[in-house]
Amino acid sequence: MRRVIMSSTEKKTDVILIGAGVMSATLGSLLKALAPEWEIKVFEKLAKPGEESSNEWNNAGTGHAALCELNYTSEKPDGSIDISKAIKINEQFQLSRQFWSYLVKSNLIRNPEDFIMPIPHMSLVQGEKNVAFLKKRFEALSNNPLFQGMEFSDDPEKLKEWIPLIMEGRTSGEPIAATKIDSGTDVNFGALTRMLFDHLKSQNVEINYKHRIKDIKRTSDGLWKLKVHDIEGGQTEYHTAKFVFIGAGGGSLPLLQKTGIPESKRIGGFPVSGLFMVCNKPEVAAQHHAKVYGKAKVGAPPMSVPHLDTRYIEGQKTLLFGPFAGFSPKFLKTGSNFDLIGSVKPNNVLTMLAAGVKEMALTKYLIQQVLLSNEKRMEELREFIPNAKSEDWDIVVAGQRVQVIKDTEAGRGTLQFGTEVVSAADGSIAALLGASPGASTAVHVMLEVLNRCFPQQMNAWEPKIKEMIPSYGLSLMDHPELLQEIHTATSQTLGLSEKELAYH
Ligand SMILES: Cc1cc2nc3c(=O)[nH]c(=O)nc-3n(C[C@H](O)[C@H](O)[C@H](O)COP(=O)(O)OP(=O)(O)OC[C@H]3O[C@@H](n4cnc5c(N)ncnc54)[C@H](O)[C@@H]3O)c2cc1C
Repeated sequence: MRRVIMSSTEKKTDVILIGAGVMSATLGSLLKALAPEWEIKVFEKLAKPGEESSNEWNNAGTGHAALCELNYTSEKPDGSIDISKAIKINEQFQLSRQFWSYLVKSNLIRNPEDFIMPIPHMSLVQGEKNVAFLKKRFEALSNNPLFQGMEFSDDPEKLKEWIPLIMEGRTSGEPIAATKIDSGTDVNFGALTRMLFDHLKSQNVEINYKHRIKDIKRTSDGLWKLKVHDIEGGQTEYHTAKFVFIGAGGGSLPLLQKTGIPESKRIGGFPVSGLFMVCNKPEVAAQHHAKVYGKAKVGAPPMSVPHLDTRYIEGQKTLLFGPFAGFSPKFLKTGSNFDLIGSVKPNNVLTMLAAGVKEMALTKYLIQQVLLSNEKRMEELREFIPNAKSEDWDIVVAGQRVQVIKDTEAGRGTLQFGTEVVSAADGSIAALLGASPGASTAVHVMLEVLNRCFPQQMNAWEPKIKEMIPSYGLSLMDHPELLQEIHTATSQTLGLSEKELAYH
């Protein structure tokens, strides 16, 4: 890509990234490594990076590697366990670990302990049927090199050692079991995003905060022209670029719709809001050291699986429980009440209506969640911590997740729970929609953007990508020696191994 000379009326550049969340941060960092001569600009409507979903208080900070999330392993009709999704997500997380490790090793970001910490990942279930499921799941996963080190126990004495806070005061005689794997992580995606933006700034990326993108149009010479509102200065600016990434989180769908590309049609979004409970007593938080995922309630969407998490936020060890889902018509925490209605267009109205009819169970679930009182939320928490006291817990509002609705082989208006890259056929613009598994797989998703949008450059870029991400293009499950090598090396660079040991 040739650098374009700036004209006085329109500011031209090679690449524009919309939004200063973890996704733009990751794509910008990859592009700076692969094409350092390209000019990149970022526009963010808020005053700082990582203030929406990527902020540490707005997400659960789980380094999703399918070590504990029960919704990534389903039971097949013959009773066996399908682990294909768990394998896929674990492999994707390995890419993130390698890229972060490359950035630290190259001194492009520092102090990995400020964004990643080791923490055991556990799944916990109660009841005979659930215990039998967990055991089968453990047997299916523990032979796989990606899930090495996973332990299972249905012995209450062992569980008391693993999770004393959860086992204390538990009177029910129901069978209970857990799996535990020590190589899990807590990732502060807010801190990571801020570090990556510091790095981009040092590489001469122009970052414009308090600048909101209002419109995106194609120019006659094939560029993209963005109408930008300078919130502080009050002016309107126009910027053009050869390539645009819409990494606006919940705000991506409305911007994608403005591009008018055929790929943007018949797609809708459904916002799900979230709440966490946060423990305000350090002495209670000190009694728990794991991320413990339970089973989703009937009718609950997969991202509402309850979990009790040790988190490292603002230099402190704390405990978060949730998320409780809810409904808000906003697409961003800082969005507008008209976001949802404004996203309904002639080309997606039937898709949206079909989803409304199909997703009655979800609607019912969300209404129930919105109506939950604090005491009802405490009751849910007490399923995890029987002795939890109301005065030890506060509520924090988490980020918005906009779930994608689209027409698929499964029918019109199908609700998607994953992340979705939508790109123009010529690769000149791409948007990221959806929220799960989210930030953990940012590197995988942004490599997909590169593959789709820069196919001509990929051959030339491959050696550098392999230098940064040695397993690129390979399945680590099929290369256990390389997996071991990468795991050891990334643990060392990210400072995970010493900390893992320190806790035992
Ligand atoms: C409750 C909850 C729990 C989660 N838990 C996890 C987890 O445990 N692990 C995990 O990996 N992921 C998790 N996620 C998902 C993860 O947070 C997201 O996938 C990720 O942060 C998305 O990053 P992003 O850069 O796409 O969006 P964001 O971080 O939301 O950034 C988008 C940015 O675009 C800006 N923007 C929007 N519109 C405009 C505009 N018009 N002009 C200029 N700027 C604009 C916004 O202000 C924002 O700063 C969770 C999400 C939620 C909500």
